[in-house]
Amino acid sequence: NEAYGAPVIGDHGSWLGVVIVLHDITDLIRLEQVRKDFVANVSHELRTPITSIKGFSETLLDGAYQDKTMLLSFLEIIHKESNRLQMLVNDLLELSKVEQQNYTITLAPTSLQDVALRGAELTTQHLEEKNMAFAVEIPKDVMVKGDDNRLMQVVTNLIANAITYSPPNTTVTIRIRENEEYGILEIEDEGIGIDEKEIQRVFERFYRVDRARSRNSGGTGLGLAIVKHFVEAHHGKIFVRSEVAKGTAMTVWIPKA
Ligand code: ADP
Repeated sequence: NEAYGAPVIGDHGSWLGVVIVLHDITDLIRLEQVRKDFVANVSHELRTPITSIKGFSETLLDGAYQDKTMLLSFLEIIHKESNRLQMLVNDLLELSKVEQQNYTITLAPTSLQDVALRGAELTTQHLEEKNMAFAVEIPKDVMVKGDDNRLMQVVTNLIANAITYSPPNTTVTIRIRENEEYGILEIEDEGIGIDEKEIQRVFERFYRVDRARSRNSGGTGLGLAIVKHFVEAHHGKIFVRSEVAKGTAMTVWIPKA
């Protein structure tokens, strides 16, 4: 808290008391801290792949290029780390766009089923690599007020996470239902789950329950932050239900058309 004090002096110079103004700046300090953490996180996330690209390319230039095996394996690392940098920068740009005050999206009647199935299609390679399967529970399509591309990004992000954070041979269930006002899309997995203490934090930028696991799977830690912004831009809501070692369900509500 910030406090200002001023003495109150009477007509004849007599001391009457003190006026104290208390101003709560807790929120300002918190925002400033969030901003500082963000810059520190971005710098760290960028530095890791850059260090690796620099190191491996220098070793190659120093002569390692003459060994075919080394050449190939170092080039693979450099390529992988460049991809990582590219993903990170793309996600950062996307996030900064959706965080602008005047960010708007165009909402038009959109088939939730269409979006869900197209999103599933885009992630099948990842799914098959882990010998996993989709279960689809769509008794009836629901039309929502949506931005086709953004909703696709929401779906693919959620499905990609469901696959990443699940063991092989499990199922990802894609469900659509509705209530009076909202079309409801749910992606449920049989994966590692999220501890109760962490559930609210997974939407924070760069927050990962297990940094190494997320990084190995190509995650940037920004996916759910972006998803949440997109859902909110649709005037929707997102909920998480999860149990460690049982699985996670991400439920998105989007206003009906
Ligand atoms: P990442 O790129 O790390 O996947 P996200 O923002 O998409 O970043 O998710 C943040 C974190 O939330 C992940 O690192 C992971 O720890 C956790 N998480 C997200 N989805 C799931 C899920 N379906 N099951 C278990 N943990 C999850």
